Amino acid sequence: MIKVCKFGGTSMADGTNIARVADIVNADPARRYVVVSAPGKRYGADIKITDLLYETAKNVRETGAAGEAFEKVKERFLGIARELKLEGIEQILLETEAEILRENSEDFAASRGEYLSARITAQLLGVPFLDARRYVKFGADGKLDGEKTFALLREGLKGIPRAVVSGFYGEDANGKVKTFSRGGSDISGAIVARAAGADLYENWTDVSGFLACDPRIVQNPRRIRSLSYKELRELSYMGANVLHSESIFPVREADIPIRIKNTFRPEDEGTDILPTSKYRFTEKTVTGIAGKKNFTVIFIEKSLMNAEIGFTHKVLTVLLKHGISFEHMPSGIDTMSFVIDSEELKNGVLEEICRDIEAAVKPDNLHTYDDISLIAVVGHGMSRNVGTSARLFGAIARAGINVRMIDQGSSELNIIVGVDNENYERTLRAVYDEFFNE
Ligand code: ADP
Ligand code: ASP
Ligand code: MG
Repeated sequence: MIKVCKFGGTSMADGTNIARVADIVNADPARRYVVVSAPGKRYGADIKITDLLYETAKNVRETGAAGEAFEKVKERFLGIARELKLEGIEQILLETEAEILRENSEDFAASRGEYLSARITAQLLGVPFLDARRYVKFGADGKLDGEKTFALLREGLKGIPRAVVSGFYGEDANGKVKTFSRGGSDISGAIVARAAGADLYENWTDVSGFLACDPRIVQNPRRIRSLSYKELRELSYMGANVLHSESIFPVREADIPIRIKNTFRPEDEGTDILPTSKYRFTEKTVTGIAGKKNFTVIFIEKSLMNAEIGFTHKVLTVLLKHGISFEHMPSGIDTMSFVIDSEELKNGVLEEICRDIEAAVKPDNLHTYDDISLIAVVGHGMSRNVGTSARLFGAIARAGINVRMIDQGSSELNIIVGVDNENYERTLRAVYDEFFNE
């Protein structure tokens, strides 16, 4: 039995927590490979090491010095080393600072949180440290080169019964350090699980499992006992960031289950995320609810749009030209909308896109609205239970909230509702109450 364990930022936040991590790893001989994040927040207003490192990179870029932000990074790691009675960290920090200055790269600086915390954890556990840079490789297209990565890691782990691997980063085709997107240590954990041929990927965090809704918005949401890879993908992509939405790709082909566990309550059961084929369907209609704020909708109307060959193609060509990806594209007979992350449309991009769409397809009506939140109601059970949408829209209507957009995924696994940002929290609570507080 081989388990790969990934510990997140809160689990690594200070010496006491890292000692807890070591206890968890040592409590089960199957826990052979450990992937760690950078230290996260110790309390609400604290700053994550990764954020301090992004600030450090900015300082280096603008002033040529690491500045105050890196002083704070050093202080945090020195404090951790002191608490854990580990030696030699001062020297490593000095070398790291010099390298950050030399590299002058945002990704390199950001990756050093995981690098340092992995070295510390390896020392504490008395096992080898494997630098992700040597094993996790990105291709020229910027995407993970799975084949190369799994082969290198498999080779690297051979004959090493236990090890700590740094999360969040790897190396690009030019030999430079490159990070995943934020929260990416979850992906690193999945990569190691796959390469190690693990039976289980344990993802240790600060909540007792995947909850049916964001606990920062709904009080005490119910724990989801198990969910399928597909449900996980929908929920995490739509905002349930307890696990990075790309974490399933490395483990999916090897059918390795993921278990979410709480570092601070290791006795709690947690949540199992299972290959969709092995997932046992239960009676429940909705598995979970997630959501994200700040989207813009571009609404296009033209009579007989459906009969006009190439209409969609022309609109998509405009988006392609501007390098914009859209989240959803609900459409009707004579209407079509694009839901796009508002971040992508800043600095006049939206206006340019609208001008280009006008020119390309001459719509009868083109308008945009922003400050939209998307809420996804996810579950395999929805397709089998009659009246799910009636319940969903009934609950939203009773709360006096206006629905701005609806998109039912073609997979019948989700229904997505758009509401004004100001109604986001209220909508989540109303929908949660409808399906979970019956
Ligand atoms: P880590 O640092 O361990 O990777 P994250 O902060 O990335 O932890 O993820 C855990 C957090 O995700 C929780 O503390 C919680 O606030 C948030 N979260 C959002 N949606 C959910 C959900 N549906 N279930 C559990 N946690 C959620
Ligand atoms: N430390 C990185 C971040 O804050 C990666 C991670 O924690 O997964 O995003
Ligand atoms: Mg995380």
